[in-house]
Amino acid sequence: YNNKHDKDKGVNVQVLLRCRPLNEDETRVNTPVVISCNEARREVSAVQNIANKQIDKTFAFDKVFGPASQQKELYDQAVSPIVYEVLEGYNCTIFAYGQTGTGKTYTMEGGARKKNGEFPSDAGVIPRAVKQIFDILEAQNAEYNMKVTFLELYNEEITDLLAPEETVKFVDDKSKKPIALMEDGKGGVFVRGLEEEIVCTANEIYKILEKGSAKRRTAETLLNKQSSRSHSIFSITIHIKECTPEGEEMIKCGKLNLVDLAGSENISRSGAREGRAREAGEINKSLLTLGRVINALVEHSGHVPYRDSKLTRLLRDSLGGKTKTCIIATISPSIHCLEETLSTLDYAHRAK
Ligand code: ADP
Ligand code: MG
Repeated sequence: YNNKHDKDKGVNVQVLLRCRPLNEDETRVNTPVVISCNEARREVSAVQNIANKQIDKTFAFDKVFGPASQQKELYDQAVSPIVYEVLEGYNCTIFAYGQTGTGKTYTMEGGARKKNGEFPSDAGVIPRAVKQIFDILEAQNAEYNMKVTFLELYNEEITDLLAPEETVKFVDDKSKKPIALMEDGKGGVFVRGLEEEIVCTANEIYKILEKGSAKRRTAETLLNKQSSRSHSIFSITIHIKECTPEGEEMIKCGKLNLVDLAGSENISRSGAREGRAREAGEINKSLLTLGRVINALVEHSGHVPYRDSKLTRLLRDSLGGKTKTCIIATISPSIHCLEETLSTLDYAHRAK
């Protein structure tokens, strides 16, 4: 993970691009493919030649994963180094960014666990990270404690995905107990009323994750595609007890945030018709602000507008400064997604 940003800019933002394969339906109807990935050159090209409209654009990234890339490959190359940083006491964040249907959730969560509890080969970033963390800690015989939170942000409102069943609140439920973001007086924030589960084994985390994402899916069907407009944040905080060579005891604290962002079409569309979108509550303030925060960090432009959205306030201690950020931008190869794909490539490229 020695990339030029480390030395040149002191900011650590990695941007990866992943293109999913055509799905069965798209393949059956011979959907034209307009994206080509060059993994060796770390470039992605969008090419379309129609008489009156020619597009031929190439974008470079820190890493490129083409349609044939497997979950393990992406994990080993892009995420595994970050987990080591977390265990060294860094706060790190991995974002999945892209149009709805391009593989954000597939990349982050992937296939469900098998009945015998084993990983399927299509397990995503989150279960793999959990496994790696426990494997390393056990191999080191480390003394540690770990807690996880899992929340959803929709329309700038927080839903706790780990709340006990009867207190699960949906956005249109007026009776809900507010989950508030509070300043902690030290420049950080905490979420009042959020469940924090202490976990001791990888299995416990998998169960929590499965419970939380099932809750997210229920909310999605109840609230007509809420999930394409909501962000989910799964966070693991680890305290590790260590002894210095002098025999002094110290605690190292690291945090890993795994964020499945709202569909990126939510910002490009709202940009096109901002007035109406705002009325309809469609503007995704958090998604817009995240882009601005990352740009400000990458460009060292001084003011970083963390305070402008809940997402960036929540992640403030994990963005900028002594932290690592990885953005996995996901796209579809289909001609029908070209417009959104170009805006994803552009957004992700700017974050570099
Ligand atoms: P998103 O979360 O961005 O809306 P999903 O992760 O739900 O998108 O993916 C949409 C569909 O495409 C799912 O059926 C998923 O299994 C499939 N898919 C996404 N990415 C890949 C991939 N890299 N390889 C195979 N199937 C994929
Ligand atoms: Mg999804």
